[in-house]
Amino acid sequence: MKRTKIVATIGPASEGKKVLAEMIKKGMNVARLNFSHGDFDSHKKAIKLIRKISENLEIPIGIMADLQGPRIRVSNDQEFSVTKKEIIQVVEFPLPGKENTIKKMIVRGVGKIVGKNKPKILKLDLKGVVRFAKVGSDILIEDGLIRIRVLAKKKNGLRAEVMDGGMIKPRKGVNIPGISGRLGAITEFDKKVLDFALAEDVDFVAMSFVRTAEEINYLKGLIKRKSKRKNGLAQVVAKIERKEAIKNLDKILGAADAVMVARGDLGIEMPQADLPILQKEIVAKCLRAGKPVIVATQMLDSMIRNPRPTRAEVTDVSNAVIDHADALMLSGETANGKYPVESVQTMTEIIRRTEKSPFDDLGHGFLGDRTSSVSAAVAQSAHELLKDSRAKAIVVASVSGFTARMITRHRPEQKIFVMTNNEKTQNQLALVWGARSFVLPDCKDLDELIDKSMETIKKNKLLKKKDRVVIVAGRPHINKEHMSLVKVEEVK
Ligand code: PGA
Ligand code: MN
Repeated sequence: MKRTKIVATIGPASEGKKVLAEMIKKGMNVARLNFSHGDFDSHKKAIKLIRKISENLEIPIGIMADLQGPRIRVSNDQEFSVTKKEIIQVVEFPLPGKENTIKKMIVRGVGKIVGKNKPKILKLDLKGVVRFAKVGSDILIEDGLIRIRVLAKKKNGLRAEVMDGGMIKPRKGVNIPGISGRLGAITEFDKKVLDFALAEDVDFVAMSFVRTAEEINYLKGLIKRKSKRKNGLAQVVAKIERKEAIKNLDKILGAADAVMVARGDLGIEMPQADLPILQKEIVAKCLRAGKPVIVATQMLDSMIRNPRPTRAEVTDVSNAVIDHADALMLSGETANGKYPVESVQTMTEIIRRTEKSPFDDLGHGFLGDRTSSVSAAVAQSAHELLKDSRAKAIVVASVSGFTARMITRHRPEQKIFVMTNNEKTQNQLALVWGARSFVLPDCKDLDELIDKSMETIKKNKLLKKKDRVVIVAGRPHINKEHMSLVKVEEVK
């Protein structure tokens, strides 16, 4: 089994039963529902299908609802081209249905342009963009392909000059670096999405354009209030794609349950040459904090169109494994590409091959010596014991998944079997490197927990007779992580 997990974005190319089942068989572990596109109905159907296939195949799948946040999009309904030096007008124009709606702005010409050469109008769908944009700000469209500079702010919009021209297409993403500090991280539309996602009992909620730990805590508060369940709440994934998030990374890591290196927007909001090093730094910090981390965007981008990826993409996927990411993400490749199943399969093949090599092994001292807690120290000893006892696997009893994460962050070569009493934890461990999890009924004491765990290993033929295992457990009858036992056993 591969150990690095795969997050696949679900969309028109992959929401059918057959494709979903194939993608799961080929190595998809987490399904990401992107709420920038698609309606609630199709997401609802996809969730139902995924849960059912996961049950049938006995492969735990995590479901992630991705809140788009203050994502700005082109809201013109027709494409139009602009050329260098052209002067255009930029207005706010929220689309009906997008709940950031303000009253439609009256669209008039800007400034002193008179006569028949009225400027073309670029419409942006997010409330506040015109108010917060500054003179001199760059407006970047479609990952920066088209660049427009704000010349002046007028009562009814912005006057702007085209720096890099091209075709402006409906619904394309827009970035205005520098103004992000003024736009909140959760829009009214996101709140509707959140209500839907929690009613569907998703396992993760991803937050786009996070700036601070407070924003993460705010979302966690919303989840707590809106969820019907008391324990096993949806986990929050912080998408790192803003300058402010890089600045506040340590605090964000403390607050979030998981992290995404959202290279798409991060590569626009930050100098692109910084991106590879930022990826390495974020992943390393997540490992130290014991928080799962996803490397995302354009990993096999050319497979949206072609059955085979480029050499650079193959190498990028492999290098993300070598960086020690928990999971790698597919976006357009599986959401609306021509080869969704092949993309998952290709990613799995590259992961497997890389994991067989010594290059992905965690170097000694990588985690640093800042042992943050007793649990972390126990996990470290368990990992040492795992190597020295020549055990084949480590069995981790974990209620919330915390103990499991403390073990997997060491990236042991041996198999990791996690026993939990919570199905939600099992789904959430689908994102965590190396974790293969099973749900056990509640046990009355540690002896029963160990017996049941060993039975599960035998029943599923996970190990052979006489294979040695290291067992790490807490007090199973207490709903809290507290490692109190490390033991070596043999499979009978
Ligand atoms: P997105 O996030 O696909 O929702 O924009 C990922 C990224 O920005 O890389
Ligand atoms: Mn993004």
